[in-house]
Amino acid sequence: MKQPAWDDPESKAGTMIRGALWLLQVVGEGGTFTKNELRTAFPGISQIDRRIRDLRDYGWILHSNVEDASLLAEDQRFVKAGVPVWDPHERRQAAPRKAMSSKDRQAVLIRDGYMCTLCGIAGAEPYPDDPVITAVVAVSRRTIRTLDGRETEAFVTECKRCTSGRGASPILERDVLLAAAELSPGDRRRFVRWMERGRRGSTELDRAWAAYLRVPTDRRQNIADQLRREQ
Ligand SMILES: [Zn+2]
Repeated sequence: MKQPAWDDPESKAGTMIRGALWLLQVVGEGGTFTKNELRTAFPGISQIDRRIRDLRDYGWILHSNVEDASLLAEDQRFVKAGVPVWDPHERRQAAPRKAMSSKDRQAVLIRDGYMCTLCGIAGAEPYPDDPVITAVVAVSRRTIRTLDGRETEAFVTECKRCTSGRGASPILERDVLLAAAELSPGDRRRFVRWMERGRRGSTELDRAWAAYLRVPTDRRQNIADQLRREQ
């Protein structure tokens, strides 16, 4: 990934990332800077010096006069760059991971009803398309890309089968809006009602299909023929 400009007005990057780019592009490795220069470069951003220190978690080396006696009290030296934090993939790989407590894990499972958030199967339930295998659900960490382009992480319940098949692709909030834009106005209203209820309801199509399935298999052909004639 190309290194973005630290002062790109279009940038949606967070303060730590822009700070990292400022260090590279303005200060340069080996150069020194003061807190005042930092505040002038990032006006109105509180705790900019703390965001810069966060870079140490990503292998960036910054020295104050504690580590380098040749520096004045207000100076800091940008010794060496670490992980390219502006690259979401690199940053994720390097992110300091915290272990999850069993209490937190339990809370996620309860919130999701012990069901896989991707395919809807519940723990210990056999897969409809593979009844020999029963689902094992667990909590996993997923990256969410929000509507305003930020990346955040969330814990979600997933079954082993979905977890192994999904790879590392993030969940895009935008996908919901893109899919909704394809719906007819009636379906879109129904979709919003489902959101309000927190679960899907059955549609005319579902009801028609369920009624069809109640008909014995050797009689279904007649129904299909009848409908084809009416089209
Ligand atoms: Zn699943």
